[in-house]
Parts: sequence; structure tokens; C-alpha cells
Amino acid sequence: MPHLTPRPSGTPPYWEPGTRIVWRYGEPDAPHFAGTLTVVRDDADGLVAWLARDTPMLVVERADGRPGRSDPATMFTAERVQGTARWQGYDVLRVAPTGRAWSVWVFFTPEGEHVGWYVNLEDPHRRDAGTVYSSDHVLDLWVEPDRTRERKDEDELVLALEQGRYTEEEVRRIERAAREAEAVIDAWGPPFCDGWEDFRPDPRWGVPELPPDAH
Ligand code: MG
Repeated sequence: MPHLTPRPSGTPPYWEPGTRIVWRYGEPDAPHFAGTLTVVRDDADGLVAWLARDTPMLVVERADGRPGRSDPATMFTAERVQGTARWQGYDVLRVAPTGRAWSVWVFFTPEGEHVGWYVNLEDPHRRDAGTVYSSDHVLDLWVEPDRTRERKDEDELVLALEQGRYTEEEVRRIERAAREAEAVIDAWGPPFCDGWEDFRPDPRWGVPELPPDAH
């Protein structure tokens, strides 16, 4: 089903808590990452949604069948195809502050223990009636429960520039967004100070299926 022209997130109408939505990364009509999440909160501040362990996902794979990080020399040039997988290992609460070029993924063990925050650098979100759209920016941050932080995949950002995935201007913009997120972490601003590390999901939410019209 073709989607309506996506609008920027952060203005009404908002999704009701408990609504199942698709959270997607990738260009239109290309292999992409997508999964069904359950809305926890959606308002002018941002979107908060739950990604349950074992949720079936659309994922991007190398057409030659090799693992995505198996060959750095072709990491950003190899042909890609659409694949499927399940979200493994951790339950995640995703928090996308309105207008930010990053979202915060709060990681929990299956026993509900908070193990840290993953900051995913990405395009500010757009949305239609049932899907949020963004594009992943390679570079990420990790924040420990004691608030120490580190950058992840800086080496891959270098490869992305070398292999033509990004221009120098795009890399500068991504690094600016990383510094912006690091400043929020150092000041322990929202959403880090909002108490999401104590969140627990409604057990009735279960594990959603991938919607048949995921696109
Ligand atoms: Mg990322």
C-alpha cells in the first residue's frame, strides 16, 4: 500500500499509547530496516515506543550473502537486498526527541535490567498515518548507566566517506549532531533525565508481527 507524503514528526495528530506503528530506516523503494513498535507516548516532545525482543524485522543484507561487516572495503558499495530477521538479545525503548538528528534506545535485559543508552544518529523523523521514517547515519554513541559515553563506528564513518556513501559536508553534519547529543548527555538533559531506565512494558503487548503492508 503506498504511503501518504510523510510530514515532519512533532505536531498533531499524535498516536495513542498502545498503538502499533512501523519504525523504518531507509530510502524509499530500497532495501530498508523496519519493525513494529508499540507507542508509549507521543507528543510535541517526541515519540517513545517499545521494541520487544524477538520482534520480526525487515533488515538490509548484502546480496552476496556475507555478513554486513565482513568486508570493510565494500561495506558501503556492495549490492543490498531485503532480508528478514528477529530483534535479538534485548528489549528496547526507543525515544525520538522532536527535531533531533538522533534517537535514544534504552536497552534492557530480558529480566528488565537497564544496561545503557544507545544513541542512534539519524535523520529527524517524518511520519504518515502508521509509519515513522528516518535514515541511519552510521555513527552512534553508547552511554553506560554511570553516564560515561563513547562513540561507536567512527571507523565506519571514515569508510562511508571514502566509499561515497556520504559527502564531506554530510560527515560534518553527522559529527555536529554527535557533538550536540554528547552535550545533552554531559548536561544529563532530556530524554536521559526522564526516568525511562525504570520503564516496564504492558505485558499484554507481547511480540507484534511485521505488518503485511510494511514498505
Ligand atoms: Mg546507527
